[in-house]
Order: sequence, then structure tokens, then C-alpha cells
Amino acid sequence: MVRDSRYDILFEPVEIGPVTAKNRFYQVPHCNGMGFRWPRTMAAMRAMKAEGGWAVVCTEECEIHPTSDLSYFTLMRLWDDSDLPTHELMVESVHAHGALAGIQLVHNGLSSPNRFSRLPPLAPSAQPVKDFDPVQARAMDKDDIRAFRRWHREAAKRAMRAGYDIVYVYAAHDMTLLMHFLLRRYNHRDDAYGGCIENRVRLIREVLEETKEVVGDRCAVAFRFAVHEVGGDLACDGEGREVVEMLADLPDLWDVNVSGWEDDSLPSRFGTEGSQEAFVRFVKQVTDKPVVGVGRFTSPDTMVSQIRRGVLDLIGAARPSIADPFLPKKIEQGRIEEIRECIGCNMCTTGDYLAVPMRCTQNPTVGEEWRRGWHPEKIAPAGSEDSVLIVGGGPAGLECALALANRGYTVTLAEAEAEPGGRVLRESRLPGLSEWKRVIDHRLYMLSQKPNATVYRSSRLDADDILGFGFSRVVIATGAVWRLDGVGRENRLPIPIADEGVVVSPDAILRGRTLAGRVLVYDDERYYLASAIAETLCAGGCEVVFATPTPEVAPFAHGTLEQFKIQKRLLTLGIDVRCAKTLAAVDEGRATLACVYTDASETVAVDAVVPVTARLPDDALYRALIARSDEWAARDIRSVDAIGDCFAPGTIAAAVH
Ligand code: ADP
Ligand code: SF4
Repeated sequence: MVRDSRYDILFEPVEIGPVTAKNRFYQVPHCNGMGFRWPRTMAAMRAMKAEGGWAVVCTEECEIHPTSDLSYFTLMRLWDDSDLPTHELMVESVHAHGALAGIQLVHNGLSSPNRFSRLPPLAPSAQPVKDFDPVQARAMDKDDIRAFRRWHREAAKRAMRAGYDIVYVYAAHDMTLLMHFLLRRYNHRDDAYGGCIENRVRLIREVLEETKEVVGDRCAVAFRFAVHEVGGDLACDGEGREVVEMLADLPDLWDVNVSGWEDDSLPSRFGTEGSQEAFVRFVKQVTDKPVVGVGRFTSPDTMVSQIRRGVLDLIGAARPSIADPFLPKKIEQGRIEEIRECIGCNMCTTGDYLAVPMRCTQNPTVGEEWRRGWHPEKIAPAGSEDSVLIVGGGPAGLECALALANRGYTVTLAEAEAEPGGRVLRESRLPGLSEWKRVIDHRLYMLSQKPNATVYRSSRLDADDILGFGFSRVVIATGAVWRLDGVGRENRLPIPIADEGVVVSPDAILRGRTLAGRVLVYDDERYYLASAIAETLCAGGCEVVFATPTPEVAPFAHGTLEQFKIQKRLLTLGIDVRCAKTLAAVDEGRATLACVYTDASETVAVDAVVPVTARLPDDALYRALIARSDEWAARDIRSVDAIGDCFAPGTIAAAVH
């Protein structure tokens, strides 16, 4: 297929200082939980994006010195020459596919507690570090500043030796020493580096000039800068703009965004594609240098519009490049319907928080490129003539059907409901989660293009049906159901429930059941669902009490950058949030909540209780087939397997994986 000429502009080369990006697709630096600890995993993940057509592929942030030690997080390091092999591997892998390699050098200043190096943190002024460690940063004196500049120059030289094409100076995400020098709340100095904005920008200017001096004839120097903070000091119509005006043509490239990270990698529950435009669009009016920005761009038309309207020169992406490393190639080859669009769930960012290779809800191969040799677009051909029946069309069943169809098997998927999608279909109807439906839409579309795949709707199957069909392989993907007995992490045994009529399953709410009066949503799952159900009930006119055994709402959502936003939303909606409370009992018209720390308890008058605690596999069909395994041979059935939530309930990403 050929590309639509509307998108030609996306494939124009862009000069960035002494180097040229072959097109406008730019993978901005993003963390991934791999870094120096899993260098081959990281290099293979980056290489996949280069293979998929991104003109520039950058590292995550790369610590330049042991005083910028972010352990336990796993990022990149360039502390000394011993770190070079990891970088050479990354550069080689990216260059092999004709892309430019960029490195985001960083000193994390006040943000790095130095847990591994055990060196005192450095900051413009003496202050506690930003993480929870009981550790304070030292105010940098003139010698420290000179040393920092030297470390940055040395790191830039090493980056050049490793073969990088673009070297970053980084002041964004409220997370780097250069940003800390810029911001009044961190910089209380009264010398040449504090006070007026010229002084607070001085160190950025010096580092930019020196980096250019060191690498300027061979590498481009990019400046990643937060032009605006949500709820902070820096505004795109204030000091954020002033900084761009002051440094306008000093860097070879402006990589601009909104700070903090949760507002840069904004989850779809809290914002849409292109949400940064209002903040970053001034930059191109101030500088003649190319500008890259992000906005979870997955639509080529939106991308073209960004370029044509003069907002950006390069389409930056972290998450869209994770969900579909082949996004540029698919546009180039006229296959835009095949783009696996990011859903904005931020499961990928949990990799950084949990210090493990990232995972993605849409792209099960990410993080597995090296360990398992998985490729997002290529899969091993079928090893037999087996025909496969998949029962259940949730994310697990759909992905299984697509993977097997791609391998060349004849695949039949039977879904009980009129519309496939399982939990994703239902959950995507909750407030803010509509983009999650892309998980289903992508897979159903791809399956519709396969002559060897058939999807049957409204087809609930039982064991007799399946034994009668004659498929040689049977895969059961029938999902899971929410428990009603209170069992979860906190209560490992069922709780006393005197009035079962009061307890309403999350599944019922997800299927559209409405409630009235006062409802207790009890969250022991600790992620997004309970809060989204609470929001739904609130919108339906219920008075909602939200109780959870944890000291804050939805702690797992820290990893998806949503925790603060979720708790804020519940409180803003007037929901009565009660933390550190376990659901101990349900009686007629009331629930008992027990304090997790003391013997204290309280009763809450309720009309209904929705326990979001744990799920049980819906595996009755699987077990019925296993119980009849002696009948398989006569019917040419070679295997019956359970997958996804039916095998072990988990995240959507886990079901797809
Ligand atoms: P997962 O996350 O593992 O994909 P889901 O709960 O999202 O699980 O999806 C399971 C799907 O299986 C649902 O769409 C459900 O309607 C379907 N299903 C359950 N039992 C049967 C059955 N006996 N026959 C066909 N489809 C079924
Ligand atoms: Fe997008 Fe979610 Fe994949 Fe991250 S995990 S890239 S947010 S689909």
C-alpha cells in the first residue's frame, strides 16, 4: 500500500544542528525500568522503534555522576567509562536501523537521595530531598557548581564517544538540578546563581554553551525544558516563556513539555490527545530552532495539523511509540487502520516505579524483545495444521485469536455477549476510560482482515458444544467475576454478611445497574476501578462513602501517575473518603469499618455496599472440559488451556500478555 499524500509532510527530513532526522517522528526520552540493569532488554526495545521508522530514538534520563543516583529506580548511567558498553549497545542497535540516537544527560539534584552511592545530595540551597528519605541536600558552593559543569562536560564527551547523535541538557519534570536552580521555591541563593531570572538561568546557559563546545560540531544539543508547571512557579506566559526568549537559538533543538511528569504523561482518564498544545505553542514563535513536543499523538491527522499550524516541527512520542513501535512505518505504508493506538492507561510507567522492564496494555511484546525474542509485527509461523477454538472475547481471547491468526492457524472465537470486549468493553464506559476501548477495536479490526479468523458473537458455549465441534485446540478465556464475600488482601477469610441483598457486585455496576441512596464503595484492589465506580455512582446521584484499608486512595496508581489525581477527584466530588479502614461486616442497613491500626471501629448507614476486593476465575467451563479429558482423543482434541483472567485474574495488560 502507498501512503496518503496528506501525510507526506510527516516524512520530510528535519535538520537538528549538525545532524538530520530522516522524518518528523521523534521518540523523546522515556524511562522504562530497564536501563543499566537490563542493557540488552533496553537496547532491543529501542532498536524496535528504530526499525519501526522513528527518525530519532532517545534514552531515558542518564545520570552523569554518583551524586545523581536515583536507585532503586533503574535508569541509565554515565558515571564513568565503565558505563560505556551499555550505551554503545544502544547506539549500535538504533543506528542499525538508520535512526539517530539521543541521550538525555541528567543531574537529579534535589530529586536524588543517593541511596546506592551514599553521597550527600546536591541542590541550589540546603533542603530536604524530594523523595521520602530523611536526607537533606547540601547547598552547592562555587566549587560544587564548577564540579557539576565538569561532570556534565565529561558525560557529553563520553556520550559522543559512545556514538550518540543528540546530547540533551535537561531541565524539566521538576526533577533535575538545572530546573531546581531555575525555580524560586528551590533556589534561595543570593549570589550570581540566585535571585533574578538571569541569575537562575545562568547555570542552564553555561551547561548549554559548554555542551555545545564539547560536542557541537558532531552532535546536536537538545534542551528538554518544561515551559509550564501545573500548580507550580513556571508558567508559559511567565518565566517559562522568558527562559525560551533568553535562550532562544542557543540549543539546536527545543524539546518542550509540561511539568510534573503526571501532567506530561497525562493519563487518558484526565486528558486527551494534544493536551499540551496551549502551553507549548508559543515556543516556535520565539526560536528559529526546531521544536519537538508530545501529546500522546496517535492520529496522523492530528500530527499533520501540529506541523501545518506551526505548533511543532517534530512529533514527539513516548507512549505512542511504546504501544506501537511501528507507528511511523504504518503511516508511511498507508496502513493507518493497523496502528495500535496508546490508550493512555500508563501501565508502562509502572515499570519505572516498580524497577522492572515496562509492560504495555496494547503492546504485549514491549520489554520482551530481547528476553523472549518477541516482535510487535512478526510472529513465528504455525507449527501444525491445528484448528483453534477460543472461548471468550475479552482482551485475552482477542489477543490470543489475533496472535494465532497471525501465525496462520485457522482460528474461531466464540463470545457469549453480542459485543466482544469482556471487561474492557464494560470498563471503558466508566468516566474517563473511553479510550481503553481501543484494546478491543484494534484487535477486532485486525481479526476482521484475516481470512483465517472468524468471530462469533452471542455464542455462549458449554462443554457439550465444545466437545462436539472437533477443534484440535481449545483455549478458554472466559474471564473472572468479582467476589461478594469481602475476601481480598486485608480480609483473607469471608466477612460476616447478614444481609446479602445489600452487597452489589462491581460486575453489576459495570453492566449498568444503578443504585440510589448511600453507597459504600470498599476498595481493597487498590487501583483504578473502585474510584471509577465511585465516580459513576456519584454522577448517578448516590451519596458515596469510599473506604479502603490503605492510608491513601488507590496506591497502585502512583505507578500510573494517577494517584494524586484520583484522590483529588474523589474529594472534589464530595465523596466521603475513609482511609485505613477495613470492611469488617455488613448488616441490614449498615456496614462496619474497622481501623487497620487499632481496635476502633465505626458503623456507616448504607443502602448498598460495592466491594472491590478480588475476583474469582470464571473457570467452570474449563474445569468441566478437564473433567472430561478422557473424551478428548475420540473427538481429536489435543489440548484445552485456560488463559487470561480465567487462568489468573490480573490487569488487562497481563491478560493481553
Ligand atoms: P480476560 O480479561 O481474561 O480477557 P474478560 O472477563 O475480559 O477476561 O472476558 C471474558 C469474556 O468471555 C467475556 O466477554 C465473556 O462474555 C466471555 N465468556 C464467558 N463465558 C463464555 C462462554 N461460556 N462462551 C463464550 N464466551 C464466554
Ligand atoms: Fe499507552 Fe497504556 Fe501502553 Fe503506556 S501502557 S503505552 S499508556 S497503552
